[in-house]
Amino acid sequence: MITMTNLKQARLRATLMAAILAGSLPGPLPATVATDPARPVIPAPQDVPFPGVIRLHVDATDIARRVFRVRETIAVTGAGPMTLLYPQWLPGNHAPTGPIDKLAGLVIRANGGERLEWRRDPVDMHAFHVDVPAGATALELQFEYITPTDPSQWRVVMTPDLLGLQWEKALLYPAGHYVRQIPVDASIQLPASWQFAAALRGAQREGDTVRFERTDLETLVDSPLFAGAHYRRVDLDTDPESPVRLNIFADAAAELAATEEQIELHRRMVREMTTLYGSRHFRQYDFLLAISDHFSGIGLEHHESSENGVGLGYFTDWGSNTNVRGLLPHELNHSWNGKFRRPADLWTPTYNVPMQSSLLWVYEGMTEYYGVVVAARSGLWSPELTRDILARYAAMYDAGRAGREWRNLQDTTQSPAINYRGRTSYTSWQRSKDYYTEGLFVWLDVDTKIRELTRGRRSLDDFARAFFGVHDGRIEPLTYTFDDVVAGLNAVAPHDWATLLRARLDGHGPGAPLDGLQRGGWRLAYKDHPSPSAKESEGAEGTRDFLYSLGLSIKSDGRIGEVFWDSVGFKAGLAPAMTILAVDGKAYTHARLVDALKAAQQDAARPIELLVRNFDSFRTVRLDYHGGLRYPYLERAGKGEDLLAAILEPRVPPAAPRKK
Ligand SMILES: [Zn+2]
Repeated sequence: MITMTNLKQARLRATLMAAILAGSLPGPLPATVATDPARPVIPAPQDVPFPGVIRLHVDATDIARRVFRVRETIAVTGAGPMTLLYPQWLPGNHAPTGPIDKLAGLVIRANGGERLEWRRDPVDMHAFHVDVPAGATALELQFEYITPTDPSQWRVVMTPDLLGLQWEKALLYPAGHYVRQIPVDASIQLPASWQFAAALRGAQREGDTVRFERTDLETLVDSPLFAGAHYRRVDLDTDPESPVRLNIFADAAAELAATEEQIELHRRMVREMTTLYGSRHFRQYDFLLAISDHFSGIGLEHHESSENGVGLGYFTDWGSNTNVRGLLPHELNHSWNGKFRRPADLWTPTYNVPMQSSLLWVYEGMTEYYGVVVAARSGLWSPELTRDILARYAAMYDAGRAGREWRNLQDTTQSPAINYRGRTSYTSWQRSKDYYTEGLFVWLDVDTKIRELTRGRRSLDDFARAFFGVHDGRIEPLTYTFDDVVAGLNAVAPHDWATLLRARLDGHGPGAPLDGLQRGGWRLAYKDHPSPSAKESEGAEGTRDFLYSLGLSIKSDGRIGEVFWDSVGFKAGLAPAMTILAVDGKAYTHARLVDALKAAQQDAARPIELLVRNFDSFRTVRLDYHGGLRYPYLERAGKGEDLLAAILEPRVPPAAPRKK
């Protein structure tokens, strides 16, 4: 929200708007709202160099209190009003998630110590106004970025063994410039003898202080840093022009013990991905991987790196951590899809201009698709495990997305701004970030359709290479629109793609959007026991899924987790957070509920009787359900070709070097 009282700025803004409308500059710029003439002006961002440098130093040594201490020097060119912004709209979040509540202790000085009183903007909580006194050449800022001490406050990012620093949470920047036009000299003080990794260039370490070579604010913010006491670096691709590294940090040194076989699977994953696109848009790619039970989980893409946070056992309990192996291929895929090629309406010149996310079904949906496909091609996932994972996703749309009736896939792309990390009571009805997995099925649909139209001569891989693989070596983002996607598909296989895509994006069913699965030679079916993948996904607190039978997930103490809208349990009046105390007159255990489901399956006259507690009220609920236990899996559909197997087939022979 910008007020614009200055005529010069208004003229400039008109020029910029004309340029945007003419298509020569990516938009949008923030709207002007002149409701309060007394409100200070926040200059609109301009694509002109910031006259000076920001010097940013983050002291990351207070890991016990979990506080980052920031010292920042921002050059100024003269006296008068100035606005400093705390990043609000964050790339990858696509939402106004900049944690302004975690900035504290802000003191601004100039002219060798004179304290300047700052004023927060009355409307924009992320903007601070200050009057620069005559003679000042720079503002000196100090403040803290107070990180969560409990996961309920947000992600825990400082532990006794490792930390993650996202620079945008530890800086203010001057309004009025595109962030790519603001040079920054960044440095960090690490806890004693900790190692670090980041995609930033030219690191010079002196003791525990690390200085990075000058970069622009956009690159800095896109290059977070992990550091820790237990660290191991593994080279996944030693190509000197664009190496790929796996930087592993963990709670304990024992967690770093990846075997050569495990590492080789990750190397194959990188080879499969770079072969798919036939290009690279990074100078060097750093996977930042935290293996921890304390550092909060994360999967966040950047152009030349990614933040990945997984639980203990990623390497050391390999067989019990299979689903999570899809994380790294997903994040690597974003270097092409999301970072290099970026939806035009998502690109913004600064972190304080609202984003629009209408194309997240490409950005995330196709990334989810190739995350799965490349996990399978590389061998991180077996074909059977991959089918089990697809079965779980398919079943969710078959039985757990009643909300498709009122809310289409297109509307879910606005979920980040609506409810970025918030939990929902009834996700099956409210919906959430469904553009990931429903988007995956859109792309499976498109892939199998291309193969059908071209009798197997072409595939979505051809689109991926042509659309994301252009301009090998270019780092600067290249934006695209819906029409560009349609044109790209038509160049691979002529078809009415616009109609097909709009039907998927704007439609409401009925039924799950599983045409691609069927065309791939498989269909969703149910059996009476969960797949290993489904078992693994049941998660903490001893949760068992009865989602595809009763529409419920239940913790070991009988507490109900999820209730599918319009399911058997829902219709009987069950809701999340109620507790099932007894099944057929006996204290609740999962085994007793399983027995009751089996007994009711044998006897159509026998209901399942539950004693349920809701706050201090008790009630008996009878479920007239006789379908038995049901868990999703995929079975072959007809006798046609197994296209899905062809899609998941490795492209790169095991140990072959990358072809340029
Ligand atoms: Zn993603």
